[in-house]
Amino acid sequence: MPWCDDCSQFWNEKTLHEGGTCPSCGRAILTARKPVPWHFKLVLVAFAGYMVYRVYWLVQWLPHHI
Ligand SMILES: [Zn+2]
Repeated sequence: MPWCDDCSQFWNEKTLHEGGTCPSCGRAILTARKPVPWHFKLVLVAFAGYMVYRVYWLVQWLPHHI
């Protein structure tokens, strides 16, 4: 829920004015959701690569240990 500092009040997103401004004082309180940062994607890709490596390692390791 968007919070307006000036009015010290929570607002319903539907009651906000165009552009996410406070209906009472006009302050922009609803900021657009930030896009996913590139380094977060990098972490995901690195993690996916690591998981592939671990699965590959397990597949190689398993036949020798059963
Ligand atoms: Zn306000």
